[in-house]
Amino acid sequence: MSKQLPNLLGVHALVWVGGWSKPECEEAVKNTAETGYGLIEIPALDPKSIDVPHTLSVLKNYNIKSACSLGLSFDADINNEDSEIVARGEKRLNEALDVVSALGGNYLGGVIYSALGKYKLPPSQKAIDNAVGALTRLAKRAKTNGITLGLEPVNRYESNLINTADQALEIIKRIGLDNVVVHLDVYHMNIEEQDLAGPIKKCGKQLGYVHVGASHRGPLGTGNIDFDSFFGALAQIGFTGTITFESFSSAVVHPDLSSTLGIWRNLWTDNKSMAISSREYMEQKIKTAHKI
Ligand code: MN
Repeated sequence: MSKQLPNLLGVHALVWVGGWSKPECEEAVKNTAETGYGLIEIPALDPKSIDVPHTLSVLKNYNIKSACSLGLSFDADINNEDSEIVARGEKRLNEALDVVSALGGNYLGGVIYSALGKYKLPPSQKAIDNAVGALTRLAKRAKTNGITLGLEPVNRYESNLINTADQALEIIKRIGLDNVVVHLDVYHMNIEEQDLAGPIKKCGKQLGYVHVGASHRGPLGTGNIDFDSFFGALAQIGFTGTITFESFSSAVVHPDLSSTLGIWRNLWTDNKSMAISSREYMEQKIKTAHKI
């Protein structure tokens, strides 16, 4: 028997469904279990729309764990100078935290530090200070609930505040709480970082969660990313956190998220076979990196 993998493997809900109605939740969690993943990442852009008791029962039924992620919107953005816009963003983050807690999860990540989208200017000092203040209050609340917050650096077209691991580490240093971690996504790293291994090693124990995706966000095993270097560095730092597969195609459309991420092309149609082959691809890379 082969040794167990050091990482829990997750899959983003957008591989399965564009919304979170009861039938969509059923389908997404069922497919997650049937394709061999242990966790589903649920987008919580509109936390109040998630039917928590129903979701919880479906997760239990299929023995699947959950994490939540979101990006804020420009009208509810903690990375802003306007106190009302910041307050709306902070309220939404707290609602998302409540959902994570009620679902028995321990992770809230993504672009929780700014709006998800193209800014027209760099952030002002006041906007950065507002984001740090709101995240600090959120992290204190999260800590009492045993929840970790992950700041995911994304490419320049999706935020102006954190595009690299260095920038995430700087904000985390200002927050000064150990339940705030870096959430690296290789798709964004491939756009913004100098290389893939360096930022992982720099984060070290502060790396808490990982997104894996192809350079075009299609199936793994295609695209131009050097996954041997990426998984090799994760093994080197002894990363034992969750690794979640993200892939998006015009075959599954979320009313807001798909257009914000620019998902215009059809990169796959058969999501189940694509999810299985991508999981096998990750497992193979992890095994090679750990010499399992
Ligand atoms: Mn991501």
